[in-house]
Formats: sequence, C-alpha cells, structure tokens
Amino acid sequence: MKKTAALLLTAAMTMTMLFAGCGDAAKDADTKNADNEANVEDVSGTESAQGEGPLADGVLNVGTNAEFPPFEFVGDDGEPDGFDMALIKAIGEKLGVDVVVENMEFDSLVASIGSKIDVAIAGMTITDERKNAVDFSDEYYEAVQYVIVSADSEIASAADLEGKNIGVQLGTTGDFIVEDIEGATAAQYNKAVDAVNDLRNGRVDAVIIDKNPAQVFGEQFKDEVKLFDGESPEFGFEKEYYAIALPKGDAELAKSINDALAELKEDGTFDELVTQYIGN
Ligand code: GLN
Repeated sequence: MKKTAALLLTAAMTMTMLFAGCGDAAKDADTKNADNEANVEDVSGTESAQGEGPLADGVLNVGTNAEFPPFEFVGDDGEPDGFDMALIKAIGEKLGVDVVVENMEFDSLVASIGSKIDVAIAGMTITDERKNAVDFSDEYYEAVQYVIVSADSEIASAADLEGKNIGVQLGTTGDFIVEDIEGATAAQYNKAVDAVNDLRNGRVDAVIIDKNPAQVFGEQFKDEVKLFDGESPEFGFEKEYYAIALPKGDAELAKSINDALAELKEDGTFDELVTQYIGN
C-alpha cells in the first residue's frame, strides 16, 4: 500500500512540474505540444498568449550563425553564446517566451524566417534587399565593414583592393561590397574564421568583415594581420545598422520585440551586455 501511494505521489508531482513549466522536460513538452492550451497559458503567462505564433505558443525559435564574435560564437559548453544571444534571451524573458536557438548558415537565415525559425539575430545589417523578404526590428547596433590584410601587405585603400582575391562570409554585406570592387573576386566562406585563416595562409589578399569581429580576429592574430577601418576616407564604406530580422507583416511580434528592446535600453540591461560582450 505504502509503495503504491509513494508511486502515485511521485507521478502526481511529475505531472505538476510538467504543467507548471519547471525544468527542461517541461520545455521539451511545450515545444512538442505547442498547441496544447494548458501548457501554453502556464508557460507564457502573458496577455499575448492568444492566437498563433511565437507569442502565443510560448517559444521563440531564433536563428543565428555562431561564427561572428563577439555577437555570436560557440561557447565552451557547445551552445551559441555572445551579445546577440544574451540580448535575445533578455527579450524573450520580457515577452515571457522560451528562446530556442538554432545555429545555421548565415546565408540561409533570411529564407528560413517563417518556416524553420521565427526570427534571426546574427549581427545582421538592415539592407533594402533583405527588406524585400523580411521586416526588421528597431536597430540595436551601429557597424561598418573593416578590411583585414596581412601585416606586410601593401593594401591601404579601396583602390588597392581592385583585382584582388578577397575573403568574405557568404551572403554578408562584406560579400556585397566585393561585388562592387573592380576586378575583385570574392572568396566566400561560411565561417569568418576560415576566411581569416586563408588570409594567414596567403590564399586571399584581404578579408572584408564587420568591425567588431575584425577586431576580435585582429587581436587573436595580432602579429600576423593589420586592420583598416572601412569608414576611413581611403575606403569610404557606409555605416551599417544591426537589427533582428522578423517575419514580414507580423506587426504584433515586431511591436513586442521593439518594446522589449526599448525597455532593455531604458533599464540599463542593454548597456551592461555591451560592456560584458563588446567592451566599447
Ligand atoms: N553584418 C553583416 C551582414 O549582415 C555580417 C553578419 C554576419 O556575418 N553574421 O551581412
């Protein structure tokens, strides 16, 4: 008798935990039974737990490409880490949704929004072309492309890049810049670090990549490479602005994310994350 009672009690407690949304098992159950109403209401606990979409089902599926330090990189535990990851998790907390991160190729992020993922955060620059396919949140970071060359390179201006073999991350704004450089060839990589390694091996003449990752690589290989600020008159690249890519036309999700972003800026969390991950 006693044994049966104990077993029943254990079973009851397990069920309570599941429905109360405690622990990883509960999160898994939520993902799988996203349209089970009892689960949805317990987990999200917000007014927006109505209708369809990530705000209603309590899970925000986020795509990134964890090859872009300090915004995203694979942490010691094998999971994506970095400024963007911390930011989107803080946004998820404000919205009362679980953030599930999918690490994928940068070039497939935009096309995956609305199917494989709900949104993407990946140091992604707002561009007119991307705006044809997705909406963007309010911008959260200003950037510009940098040029990395080997320490003994004679390249020192945009004109010097003409006809050169230039390493870029596939489908990025660095890649698009190379398209406009006379006679230059883009050597396209899925991982920025591979482009930098090929620069160190002499397989490419330069790498064009965003400022902060360039600075991380510049520091990592400081005896071998030097950096140029693309905003300098010698290069004349334009400023870029990062934002979260959102499904086209989902005004409710856009507003919720923008409101959460504004709150995080207001309450100092955003600045704390900048200090923690980017340092300037
Ligand atoms: N900011 C660049 C872009 O949007 C690069 C982003 C990245 O490589 N993660 O294209």
